[in-house]
Amino acid sequence: MSFKNKVILITGAASGIGREIAIQFAKLSANLSLLDISSENLKRVAEECRNLSESKVFTLVADLRKSDNVKTVVDLTKGEFGKIDVLVNSAGIARVGDIKCVDLLEDVDNVLNINVISGIALTHYAAEALIESKGCIINIASIMATEVSRGLLAYNVSKAAVLQFTKCVALELADKGVRVNCISPGSVKTNVLNNVLPPSEDVNKFWDDLIEDHPLRKLTTTDDIAHMAVFLASDKAKSITGCNYIVDSGKTLTKFASR
Ligand code: NAD
Repeated sequence: MSFKNKVILITGAASGIGREIAIQFAKLSANLSLLDISSENLKRVAEECRNLSESKVFTLVADLRKSDNVKTVVDLTKGEFGKIDVLVNSAGIARVGDIKCVDLLEDVDNVLNINVISGIALTHYAAEALIESKGCIINIASIMATEVSRGLLAYNVSKAAVLQFTKCVALELADKGVRVNCISPGSVKTNVLNNVLPPSEDVNKFWDDLIEDHPLRKLTTTDDIAHMAVFLASDKAKSITGCNYIVDSGKTLTKFASR
């Protein structure tokens, strides 16, 4: 499989899942436009990608909560490469804690802005380019899109919105040749997961218990998600749109099952 001469715009590319998606596409010779709010980490990931192939790697440091930035990101990517073939919306945050009504609104605003609105805005601004290239969009949702958990209201709501957003845009853009899908990761050891560790918990026990909760007795890895993203962006997935791919080491199978 090769993505030579393809242009992949990836948000949240400075760490975790976004970083790994960038690396896997770099290995397949894609040109990359990598975006993140964290400039230092982004620089490091861009270097990693450059060391993997001859492809061009362009970096954009921006806060996706600002809608002006989102338009600029698309304009600069088109300016650099002349087109966009794949948009990967991976940037996201999760915040857990004693979130009660008092600070709920602020939390919802912030999380929805990054996890949902920025993806919708990017899709809006990149749509024309994606229609031209008959490209595709890959959104990173979560298994929490269809589950509930304490203290993660804003996150769960945001990911449910990503699922619906994926399907609506898939329907809207299908006759224009653009496919739109999402991936719902289970527990992947990245900053997003580290941020929701219960503060008082014995961390080793937390990880052991978490692994036990997975029928495959392993957490999902960033490259599990990245390989799915590569598949969805490839011609092998040419008949797939509007779908949600759960990649979770079997975690969601355990809802009604005892260990
Ligand atoms: P991560 O924290 O390693 O990566 C998220 C990236 O998004 C970071 O590099 C961060 O700097 C960037 N980002 C955050 N706010 C931003 C903003 N305002 N503007 C631009 N960039 C911003 O975490 P991750 O696990 O790789 O998360 C990637 C996606 O995967 C997220 O959407 C997350 O919700 C989703 N996800 C993660 C897990 C998991 O267990 N790790 C599970 C399900 C879904």
